[in-house]
Amino acid sequence: MQVTEIYKSIQGESSFAGLPCIFVRLTGCNLRCSWCDSEYTFTGGHKMTPDEVHSEVEQLVNGGAAKLLELTGGEPMLQEREVIPLMHRLLDGGYTVLLETSGERPLAAIPKQVIKIVDVKCPHSGAADTFRMENLDALEPHDELNFVVSDWVDYEFARGFIRQHDLASRVNSVILSPAFRKDAAGTRDASQCLLDPRQLAEWMLQDALPARLGLQMHKFVWDPARKGV
Ligand code: SF4
Repeated sequence: MQVTEIYKSIQGESSFAGLPCIFVRLTGCNLRCSWCDSEYTFTGGHKMTPDEVHSEVEQLVNGGAAKLLELTGGEPMLQEREVIPLMHRLLDGGYTVLLETSGERPLAAIPKQVIKIVDVKCPHSGAADTFRMENLDALEPHDELNFVVSDWVDYEFARGFIRQHDLASRVNSVILSPAFRKDAAGTRDASQCLLDPRQLAEWMLQDALPARLGLQMHKFVWDPARKGV
């Protein structure tokens, strides 16, 4: 499999935000979101067998890392043939496995114990209409859905989608996160967001939206331009 990096950090997103986590970041993505902060994963990386990935992860655990692990990218499900056996191996080894995915790839073959954190791309993401609707049927109650919102149009879309598909009753968490500026660097505060989190919070409160406000915690802890965190 093609791997960009393996490292430990603090989980920045999802309902696991704030917890120590191991990240396996795979190379390659078939989408081109306008606010993507992972373009460095589109090419390069290095070839590793699932065995080599597993052993590098185990070394981190032996060094004191927790057994919470996220498979991310890029788009991990582009390497489904190798990723799914790796998931089984990690689950068998007692890991809590998170998968961060764009929602465009089929998700039905993923082991049920994996916690899927699935994006639904909004109109101004640059990847509108890429969500694979049959993925709604592949969701487990412990899964999470994530909308990255850059403006009112994105918010209206997310609100409509959440209500139309009754997402709050399907998954553990529905998350709305303000998009970060692509060139965000230096300052670790909300001025780096394309949409003011306070504005997003006010819209959510006004609508009593059954969703959680998400902030990309790692971008408030470290320089937003920093990789490997
Ligand atoms: S799906 Fe993720 S990695 Fe791919 S372009 Fe969009 S934000 Fe970047």
